[in-house]
Amino acid sequence: MMEKLVDDVINGRVKMHELEKILGNANAATYVRRKVVERLTGVELKHVGYYSIDFNEVVGKNCENTIGIVQVPLAVAGPLKVDGRYAKGSFYIPLATTEGALVASINRGCRIVTDNGGVKTIVIEDYMSRAPVFRLRSIDDVEGFIRWIDENFENIKREAESTSRHARLIRIDKFVLGNNVWLRFRFRTGDAMGMNMVTIAVDKAVRYILENFPEARLVALSGNMCVDKKPSALNMILGRGKTVIAEARIGRTYLKERLGVAPEDVLDVVYRKNLLGSAYAASYGYNAHFANIIAAIFLATGQDMAQVVESSIGFSWAEIDENDNLYFTVTLPSLEIGTVGGGTRLPTQQEALKILGVAGPGDPPGTNALKFAEIIAAAVLAGELNLLIALARNELARAHERLGRGKRE
Ligand code: NAP
Repeated sequence: MMEKLVDDVINGRVKMHELEKILGNANAATYVRRKVVERLTGVELKHVGYYSIDFNEVVGKNCENTIGIVQVPLAVAGPLKVDGRYAKGSFYIPLATTEGALVASINRGCRIVTDNGGVKTIVIEDYMSRAPVFRLRSIDDVEGFIRWIDENFENIKREAESTSRHARLIRIDKFVLGNNVWLRFRFRTGDAMGMNMVTIAVDKAVRYILENFPEARLVALSGNMCVDKKPSALNMILGRGKTVIAEARIGRTYLKERLGVAPEDVLDVVYRKNLLGSAYAASYGYNAHFANIIAAIFLATGQDMAQVVESSIGFSWAEIDENDNLYFTVTLPSLEIGTVGGGTRLPTQQEALKILGVAGPGDPPGTNALKFAEIIAAAVLAGELNLLIALARNELARAHERLGRGKRE
C-alpha cells in the first residue's frame, strides 16, 4: 500500500497533504512523503528519516507535509551563576548550533562571570503585541475613533480576554498616519510567547470595535506596527516580549591575570566597535553578537526562530566602576520567548527547557517565562563579554580556525 501511495503522489493522483487523511497516521504519511522526495530527487534521506519523535504529535500543531527531522548538535555552556528575580542559582545553557567556537566562547564567558560573582538580571517590561490597521473616512473620524477606543477600553478588554485564560490586555497604543490608524494592543500572556494567543484575542476585540464603530474599516489584523519578525526601531524603543537587563562586574586583577586584558581594553572595543561601528552602520541595537546566543537557545528550546530578528536587537554597555573594575551590562528590549505553546511542546525541546528548570507552565503562571528570560539575558551577557574580551586579545580568527575548521594547535 505504501509503495502504491508513493506512485499515486508522484503521478498526481494523491496530493502530499492528503496522506494523513488517507493513512490515518502521521508517521506513515511522513514515511510516504519521504519516499516520494527520495524518488523525485534521487537523494537518499537516511538521516532525515532517523528519529524518535511521534509525528502524530507534530502534524496539525507544529508542521505540515513532514518528511523527517533535521538534526542539529546540542551542547551546553556553564555553569552560569544567575541572580535574577526568578532565576536563582547555577544553570547549564542548552545551545543548538553548527557554528564551531560559539559554545566554547559562551562557556568561557560563563566561567568569567561566574568566577566574579555571577550575573544579576531583571525583566523590566513584559507584553506581547498585535497592531491591526484601520482605514477611516476622514481625519474627523480618526479623532472620533481614538476617543471611542479610550472610552470603551474596558469593553474591548472584556471581549479580548474572553478568548483565553491567560491573555490580559494592559493597554492600546494608537499610531496615526493620515486616515490610517494602528491600534497596538499589549497583552500579558503568562508563560506563552503569546503570538497566537494575542492574535486570537485581537481578532475578537476588532469584531467588537467594527460592530460598534462602523465608520472604521479593518485593512489587516496585522498592520506591521506589531512588530513581528521584522527589525524595527519601534520594538527596540517600546519593547516587545520581555525587556530584560543584566549586569556583571569583573575584577581588574582577574582580567589582567587570567585573560591578559585591562577593563580599558574591553571599553575600547565596546566604544569603537559596538557603539561607533554600529552607529556608523545605522544598525538597530549596538552589540557584538547577541543573535548568536539567542539563535542557539531558541533552536534548542523550541522558540519561534523567525523572532530571532527582533529578539537579538539590543545594547551592550561597559564602564569602570567605583572599585576600578569592569562593569558590564546588556539590554534586550524585545526578547520574545515562552515555555508553553509553539515548538516548546516537542520532546527534545522540552528536555532542553527542563535542563533550565523552566518547562511548561509556571506557578503562578508567567513565572517560568520570566525565569527563562532572565537566564537568556545572563547567557547573552556571558557570550557577549567573552567575544569583546577575545577581540581585545585579538584571538578571534585563531579560535575560529581551531574550532570552526578543525585545525589542531
Ligand atoms: P499557543 O500554543 O497558541 O497558546 C498557548 C496555549 O497554552 C494556550 O492555549 C493557553 O491557554 C495555554 N496555556 C497553558 N498554561 C499556560 C500558561 N501558564 N501561560 C500561558 N498559556 C498557557 O502559543 P502562543 O505563544 O500564543 O503562540 C506561539 C505560536 O504562535 C508559535 O507556534 C509561533 O510560531 C506562532 N506564531 C503565530 C503567529 C500568529 O499570527 N498567529 C505569529 C507568529 C508566531 P489559554 O489560551 O486558555 O490561555
